Amino acid sequence: MAEIPTARGTVDSGALGRVLMHEHVFVITPEVLQNFPEHWDEQLRVTDAVEKLTALKNAGIDTIVDPTVIGLGRYIPRIVEIAGKIDLNIIVATGVYTYDTVPKFFKFRGPVFPGLDVPDPMADMFIKDITEGIADTGVRAAFLKCAIDEPGMTEDVARILRAVAKAHLATGAPIMVHTVPSMHRGLEVHELLSGEGVDPSRVLLAHSGDVNDPDHLSELADLGYLLGMDRFGIDLYLPFEERVAIVATLAERGYTERMVLAHDASCYMDWIEPSYLEFSPNWHFLHITNDVLPALRERGVSDDQIDTMLIANPQQWFAPA
Ligand SMILES: [Zn+2]
Repeated sequence: MAEIPTARGTVDSGALGRVLMHEHVFVITPEVLQNFPEHWDEQLRVTDAVEKLTALKNAGIDTIVDPTVIGLGRYIPRIVEIAGKIDLNIIVATGVYTYDTVPKFFKFRGPVFPGLDVPDPMADMFIKDITEGIADTGVRAAFLKCAIDEPGMTEDVARILRAVAKAHLATGAPIMVHTVPSMHRGLEVHELLSGEGVDPSRVLLAHSGDVNDPDHLSELADLGYLLGMDRFGIDLYLPFEERVAIVATLAERGYTERMVLAHDASCYMDWIEPSYLEFSPNWHFLHITNDVLPALRERGVSDDQIDTMLIANPQQWFAPA
């Protein structure tokens, strides 16, 4: 057992309960919202988040793992305010989310000129978030988050992954990587992170459930990676039946210990014109408890296996036995 930091204090790893491993409270673009305030209503957004997260707790979920980092609009004081009004743990992250280049802040900092031997400030910033706390909130990040997408392992994406690996090795905090499984990006992550000395069992490959490709996902699980079956409700990327099928198939193949569940949903996301969300009616926090778990049971996944994915695997990832 270990003490896991959350937005409302530390929780024993054995007391995290049922965990959704990838949900956002907010995914927003602060610079746009600050300058076009007609797109943001602070009071409304906080009240709405409290309602949605309370409904999630009432549905039997105790903890969400929120990988909102730099690039996704992380602002922890607002998360602390919301966490204080709900009976659900929110675990927060540090890291940088980009598909191609580092945010401009980092562009000319660190080892960016040949022959200039200065350390990358990113790793130290991540380490501070994990060991001391984020800004002056007193809330510590419990894991690291980064991304690799369509452009692949660009120089800057590799730079971020190396900084994440360094912070992981210094602190022991686990790593979540946004991936594109149809492009086998997990194998590129493996090449870089294993070269840095990172143990695959401490790495969650997010969005693995976006493909119904049991052979590729088995390969990643055999390497030791934890697979994020974490976009239930984003049926435009992969339909519901196939999202359920790939989890059931991997469970049948003996990989229950290598999967976690989530929606990658948010209380509010400013990336999408709100009316477009009607094309994804299942993309909300209650889809797993309402629809996915019954469908998994119908496909022969047992309650014990569901508990492994919702309770034991998250606990093991944060606090390996
Ligand atoms: Zn996400």
